[in-house]
Amino acid sequence: MKLSVKIFFGICIPSIIAILIVSMILINKNNETVLETETQRSILDLQSIEDEIVDATSKNVAIEDFIQIIANYYKEKNIYLFYYENTEVIYKTTDALILNNKEILNVEDNKYKTLIENKNNNYYIFISAKLDNGNVLVYAKNVNSIYEIRASLMRMCIYSIIIAMIVIAIIAFIVSKTITKPIVEMQKEMVKLSKGNYDIYLKENNSELGKLSKNFNKMSKEIKNRNDELLDVINSKQIFIDNLAHEMNTPLTSILGYSELLEKANLNEEQKSKYLKYIQQETKRILDMYKKLLMLSYKKNADFEKSKIDMEKVFDEIKDTLKNRLSQNNIELILNNQLKTLLADETLIIMCLSNLIKNAINVSNPESKIIVNAFKMNNKKYIQVVDQGPGISEENIKKVLEPFYRVDKVRSRKNGGAGLGLSICKSIMEMHGGEIKIESDLGKGSIFILEFPNN
Ligand code: ADP
Repeated sequence: MKLSVKIFFGICIPSIIAILIVSMILINKNNETVLETETQRSILDLQSIEDEIVDATSKNVAIEDFIQIIANYYKEKNIYLFYYENTEVIYKTTDALILNNKEILNVEDNKYKTLIENKNNNYYIFISAKLDNGNVLVYAKNVNSIYEIRASLMRMCIYSIIIAMIVIAIIAFIVSKTITKPIVEMQKEMVKLSKGNYDIYLKENNSELGKLSKNFNKMSKEIKNRNDELLDVINSKQIFIDNLAHEMNTPLTSILGYSELLEKANLNEEQKSKYLKYIQQETKRILDMYKKLLMLSYKKNADFEKSKIDMEKVFDEIKDTLKNRLSQNNIELILNNQLKTLLADETLIIMCLSNLIKNAINVSNPESKIIVNAFKMNNKKYIQVVDQGPGISEENIKKVLEPFYRVDKVRSRKNGGAGLGLSICKSIMEMHGGEIKIESDLGKGSIFILEFPNN
């Protein structure tokens, strides 16, 4: 059964039953009170008749004669009198009424017995009293009007209940729809969510359902974010594979072309050695790429140990390795090292710094300077590589850390780069719990900052 239907009947049925019970109790209570009042009034009436009988007997008037005298007066008021000796009626003011229940005649001195009976579709109240001579006087009064009022109240009550039922049904309908509306909306949105539509928003407020909507919105937002992240990962993996295929294609095509030439063409020794050199160059390029890719995947299965490395030693080694490159390009490398040690993996740090300095050499003009600053600030350790190269645009800064991305493609390729150096640096820094930041001024140069966490 639908929740709205349940709420509808849940309101209607108990309300109508409650109204019915309360109405019945009130009508019956009212009827009892009116009957009680009428009984009291009738007893008073009977008492005054008794007094008059005492008065009449003192004047030697027979009781039945006296009753006969007052009979007409009481008949007009729908009151009838019966005079009993034991269980025999000696005199009565009407023949239309027959008293079947003789129990009422069994009344004690100075007491009254009452009885209500339906005679000929009319209700009568019977009250009996014992006279001084031991006979019993029964007073009967038509109280049908009281029962008619009760019947008319009952009819009014039924009409009222019908009207109340309609009003309650309308209210119950509105209430059930109001309560279930957000639930229905939520259900619709859930269907959308299950079909992969994550752009969902439900109205939020402080009610229980409003809070549920708030959590639902949070949940769908979270799913959307996770989904976007997943799509990003899938996307970047696809880009990675596409780039890798593209990067492999050029050297492999060259190797195939030169090897075919070597096999088929009639070449002199000089040409042969030239083509063999090309083949070696391209093979070296593939090998280099292979090593770098290995490094990237090594990061994912990282099992490296950090130790306190001597930074003087690290910089000496780097300087030594890059000595030739620097002098070939006539570039000065200035080292400002304020760090004694660094908690890191020595091989990886040397690889990362060498990559950055090699890049700086590649983009720098002859006679320019490359400055490396190593220092501690706010409990964090930093290594900066500052160059006077062309700089990197805002847009490219965001992309250079991605694998295979190259800003100056021709120059980069000429230098043997595959666009993997910076993404390797990024991975190395992530492994150390740090990060790589780039600051650049187009036309003036760039600063690559390695930030190490406080260990
Ligand atoms: P590559 O191995 O091709 O140099 P990197 O990932 O190291 O790849 O660098 C990506 C690209 O970022 C390079 O192709 C180059 O165009 C650009 N780049 C790197 N370092 C600098 C720098 N110091 N100044 C300007 N551009 C740079």
